[in-house]
Amino acid sequence: MAVRRSFTFLLRPTSKQAAALTQCLEDHRQLYNAALEHRRTAYRAAKVTIRYGDQSAELKGIRADDSAGQGRWSFSSQQATLRRLDKAFKAFFARVKAGRTPGFPRFKGRGWFDTVEWPKDGDGCRWDSQPHHPTATFVRLQGVGHVRVHQHRRVLGTVKTISIKREGRRWFVVLSCDDVPAQPLPATGAVVGIDMGVARLVTTSNGDHIANQRHLAASAGRLAAAQRDLARRKRGSERRRKAVVRVAALHAKVRRQRLDGAHKAALALVRTYDVIVHEALKVTNMTRRAAPEPDGEGGWLPNGAAAKSGLNKSILDAGWGVFLTILSHKAESAGRKLIAVNPANTSRTCAECGHCAKENRTTQAEFRCVACGHTAHADINAAVNILRAGLALRNAAKAA
Ligand SMILES: [Zn+2]
Repeated sequence: MAVRRSFTFLLRPTSKQAAALTQCLEDHRQLYNAALEHRRTAYRAAKVTIRYGDQSAELKGIRADDSAGQGRWSFSSQQATLRRLDKAFKAFFARVKAGRTPGFPRFKGRGWFDTVEWPKDGDGCRWDSQPHHPTATFVRLQGVGHVRVHQHRRVLGTVKTISIKREGRRWFVVLSCDDVPAQPLPATGAVVGIDMGVARLVTTSNGDHIANQRHLAASAGRLAAAQRDLARRKRGSERRRKAVVRVAALHAKVRRQRLDGAHKAALALVRTYDVIVHEALKVTNMTRRAAPEPDGEGGWLPNGAAAKSGLNKSILDAGWGVFLTILSHKAESAGRKLIAVNPANTSRTCAECGHCAKENRTTQAEFRCVACGHTAHADINAAVNILRAGLALRNAAKAA
């Protein structure tokens, strides 16, 4: 069996290459913004909808007219940038159709456009472009040259897409590979249910807490504060520019901590259990939660203090999707089974007698059944319910 996987490596560009990478990103950002402007004006002025195909057809002319600018870069990476905009519009219209009031796709400011993708290895880019070099690995990017890669691990499978990503002052290359051989783990005979929380990413039905999010919570709190600070700054001011830099740096930190915690938790689960049952995430709920609204019940941190704001909580919550994605990749590669169950009532049902009542949940941390008196850590009680629901689903599927 084979799976799809991505590999991320630090780039070691020369200063000339770093300048070219910055310019490459900047030109792709401007292309994105120009394409967005094009769609907006056409729609506002004439109620005409511009599509990806229309914009892609104009690329040839844009490149010819600006051969020292846009013309330097790969046609394919520019198409990928237009497709990215197209995706943003499709998501926007899908939300409108669903009766919501989404924000219109936004112009990307400096510092908010940090990645360029080449959709096909060999087309405007080449992984391992100097295979006979005795010690180093290089990636060739059109308009930038052969950039040295700090390749700290072997790449498996076939390279499909190549992206560059800027994080602060550092540059990374991300390879998305197909046909990566799966590495099945030996069966353990163990099954588990997991509850995903804010203070701890994962609590298992066996009572283990995995990935304490205290450090992430602290960074998320600082990010939320920095975002509030940014909102107060005047456009074009020096203070605003500094606030933007700070928000971007904290975003990167939160992302790193979240990925790190998610990888560790997923690895621990996949090593130990053959079957892992989790709650299905409702995507609509997840995105709706991104609006800063304290919900009055969640958002408790381990020290018992309420989360500082709904924004802080939403930043922590956003990690569940990331975690489940990583978990599903690792489970697939290791030959483990993941089961998603409906999350309704898992936190208010007694795992002992099945009595379901809101009053069972006395605090965020404590569960006390009003019918049978069973007490447990609320997350463990939920994880046991999740496991039970998952095994019931599996048995029903076997019987069918
Ligand atoms: Zn009970």
